[in-house]
Amino acid sequence: MLEIKDLRAEIDGTEILKGLNLSMDAGEVHAIMGPNGSGKSTLAHVLTGRDGYEVTGGDVLFNGQSILEMEPEERAAVGLFLAFQYPVEIPGVTMTTFLKEAVNSIRKSRGEDEMDAMKFTKELRERCKLLGIPEDMMRRSVNTGFSGGEKKRAEVLQMAALEPKLAVLDETDSGLDIDALKTVADGVNRLRSPERSMLVITHYQRLLNYIVPDHVHVMVKGQIVKSGDKTLAEQLESEGYAQFGEDKAA
Ligand code: ADP
Ligand code: MG
Ligand code: MG
Repeated sequence: MLEIKDLRAEIDGTEILKGLNLSMDAGEVHAIMGPNGSGKSTLAHVLTGRDGYEVTGGDVLFNGQSILEMEPEERAAVGLFLAFQYPVEIPGVTMTTFLKEAVNSIRKSRGEDEMDAMKFTKELRERCKLLGIPEDMMRRSVNTGFSGGEKKRAEVLQMAALEPKLAVLDETDSGLDIDALKTVADGVNRLRSPERSMLVITHYQRLLNYIVPDHVHVMVKGQIVKSGDKTLAEQLESEGYAQFGEDKAA
């Protein structure tokens, strides 16, 4: 489903990703862990096609097709989703309107008709129920005055509504409280399916107590330096990243 081959990328002429390799199968949850500044967020932004990141080598294949030349909207249309690290507030736009527009913009870029409004409302109600989100949150302005936990819920709901094939979740290093963490994990776990893959990026092991990954990768200085199963995350928790020291420096 996803194949990242020898990927190199720069910000302002500085190489951040230095030949990164990673492959994921459909239905799998992979975690990327690594110290601050190793390039985890850069990878997330390069995958979704954000401005300011220049790919200088390698390729990213999504279901066999290179996505590097695609605009962010086209990537979303083929099923890529990035959960935002820093959610924006949109005063005056309700969650319902925001989600409806997001869904319809993806449908439009796929050449599909707008979603029937009644059907959308019905599905949104079901998703809220599934994710334990109070329905009245849908009538509030996007992220405006939301608590940290509510912002996370909104983000998970957005992911549910867009039904992505690959969701990239870049967790902030600043640290969520344990309730918000469990909220994210619960939502993500409910959205796991054989067709949906998830790439969970995190600095801390604790999120992975709740989202149990199929594979764990360690990223240091723009490369994947070690891969393993969930026990690798536990090992990192006790031993830290020092073991990967400077030996992989470019
Ligand atoms: P991580 O998410 O693993 O903490 P990042 O991808 O955010 O790492 O950053 C990787 C490196 O790129 C860091 O050295 C950081 O200082 C640098 N970097 C990140 N964003 C920018 C930017 N907008 N301009 C210049 N350098 C950046
Ligand atoms: Mg596998
Ligand atoms: Mg980061």
